[in-house]
Amino acid sequence: MKIHEYQAKELLSKEGAAIPLGIPVNTPGEAVAAFDKLGGKPVVLKCQIHAGGRGKGRFKDSGKDFGGVKYLTRREDILPVAEVMFRFPLVTAQTGPLGQKVSKVLVQSAADIAREIYLGVVLDRASGMPVMMACAEGGVEIEELARTHPEKILKTAISPEAGLQPFQARKMAFALGFTPEQAPHAESIMMALAKVFLEKDCSLAEINPLVVTPTGEVVALDAKITFDDNGLFRHPELESLRDLTEENPAEVRAAKAGLSFVQMDGNIGCLVNGAGLAMSTMDIIKHHGGEPANFLDVGGGANKDQATEAFRILLADTKVKAVLVNIFGGIMKCDTIAQAILAAYKEVGFHVPLVVRLEGTNVQEGKKILSESGLKIITADGLTEAAKKVVAAAG
Ligand code: GDP
Ligand code: MG
Repeated sequence: MKIHEYQAKELLSKEGAAIPLGIPVNTPGEAVAAFDKLGGKPVVLKCQIHAGGRGKGRFKDSGKDFGGVKYLTRREDILPVAEVMFRFPLVTAQTGPLGQKVSKVLVQSAADIAREIYLGVVLDRASGMPVMMACAEGGVEIEELARTHPEKILKTAISPEAGLQPFQARKMAFALGFTPEQAPHAESIMMALAKVFLEKDCSLAEINPLVVTPTGEVVALDAKITFDDNGLFRHPELESLRDLTEENPAEVRAAKAGLSFVQMDGNIGCLVNGAGLAMSTMDIIKHHGGEPANFLDVGGGANKDQATEAFRILLADTKVKAVLVNIFGGIMKCDTIAQAILAAYKEVGFHVPLVVRLEGTNVQEGKKILSESGLKIITADGLTEAAKKVVAAAG
């Protein structure tokens, strides 16, 4: 689960990280009021969307050449800029071409910047531990730097039990070139970032940039936090931070039904049991020249209600021109899923071809149910045949 920058900063601030003053607003008018409240001094208007790269983004069809992070000094400029931000979708390298609608803007007291630094905590799968990464060249795309100059990224493993130790933070602060006066402030921010990462079961906690002002203050100017969904049940208080308007509606709906669903761009809807099978199904569809419209794993014990809801979600996508059901019966029996398919088929009303491939436990019973149903279902033996048939059916 992702949260907005302003929410991430609040969490970090509670743990002692220095952040700039800021007011999240919902309308252009409120943005002007926030400018006044912050003393009429220079501000940065920052679009709150879950995607990154906002500064370099552009507002779709607006004709304006500024992005989702805009530095403004004059009161009369706040309203027109905020109006653009709230009106046009913001397209960044991470949003896709349609962009993301902005419903909140953070009006933040602008900082003067002498240096920009990158600071982040992620899980290092190789060592099986959280690792703090830092780079003296912040602000830029860290992924790019990791590719071209990996030696410039400093790394410190964090003990999951003991957390980041003060000596580790100090070492890193000096390696990053903070002066003795600045170092304690940088260290507090590192400690806060590591603490939030561990305590809230994050998969990512990042400050980019961490800045040093000309007067030597150290401030977290931008922050990004992603929580591990598997840990969310331990943190009911985080639920209020969820912003469903940022999430794909079909994915939200699927999650409610206990389905694991990811929307994609193709035209072949897939309904599969098991994540590994779902991935190989997508692979083989692509291998035969098709494009999957989604990843949908109904799990090991899907019932009729879930299968029906899964079909509804698939068919609600107008791009879907054919559906492939690929079931490997294990604990889930093929005749159970065949019955669920029939029930769902009747209830949902199919308007596109349906290809079904069943294998495993009770496969004969399952096939019999489908063939005796009288419904227009294309059956297939084996994955290759199923993929070829569904690609042909989708045109
Ligand atoms: P992102 O593009 O989504 O990562 O948004 P950021 O909050 O990181 O802002 C992008 C860039 O805008 C930063 O790297 C800074 O260079 C600049 N920026 C953001 N806030 C301020 C500010 O308060 N003062 C100044 N001078 N620049 C800022
Ligand atoms: Mg940033």
